[in-house]
Amino acid sequence: MLTPKLPILFVSDLHLTARRPETADLFLEFLAGPARQASALYILGDLFDSWAGDDDLDDPFNRRVGAALAAVEADKFFIAGNRDFLLGERFGASSRLTLLADATVIDLAGEPTLVLHGDTLCTDDTDYLAFRQTVRDERWRRDFLALPLAERKRQIEVLRQRSETAKDGKPRESMDANADAIATAFRRHGVRRIIHGHTHRQARHEHLVDGRGCERWVLGDWHAAGNALACDDTGCRWLTIAP
Ligand code: MN
Repeated sequence: MLTPKLPILFVSDLHLTARRPETADLFLEFLAGPARQASALYILGDLFDSWAGDDDLDDPFNRRVGAALAAVEADKFFIAGNRDFLLGERFGASSRLTLLADATVIDLAGEPTLVLHGDTLCTDDTDYLAFRQTVRDERWRRDFLALPLAERKRQIEVLRQRSETAKDGKPRESMDANADAIATAFRRHGVRRIIHGHTHRQARHEHLVDGRGCERWVLGDWHAAGNALACDDTGCRWLTIAP
């Protein structure tokens, strides 16, 4: 008899922070529950609401999340988001996470699938993309990580508040994935399925790209409840993680 294959799970935008312990508890429940029944877990960015550098692993909150991740047997992969792009190899090793480059094509039960955080699809937000280019530069990263941890945290907090203010002034559409950028991503990577997060607008979209039917799964963020996408060779479906 065939044993059903364990699903592959996708989550993003948990925005874990000690300021919202209930979301962290929910994630730890998810790691102790559904994640134990999975063959792989992909975290597609913004696991943390902010990340000042891997030397912040001594922080009890960060250590607790890292230890809970390390305890999950499944293969685990991480793609950085716009909030936790400073998360690095040290955190990866201690949490047993494999860090992947943004926009990676994986074999998902036989279907080549593009996984990414999703911020690069939001091409109408030009201010943000300029900022992204600056902070994703190796030199900027090295210089920033050379600052004392407390100073990095201070600067990140300033940026976070500035981004919150800027978001309020931007039209809702400019914060969503751009239709041309989506079509380009399907074409460039030669895939018919994309999974991403970032916009917090959980949905399954159908796209017609050069006459080919494609699908795009957008993961939602975590607050009072969490969400995950579970995929196997029969397809993908949503899981709700409720307290
Ligand atoms: Mn994001």
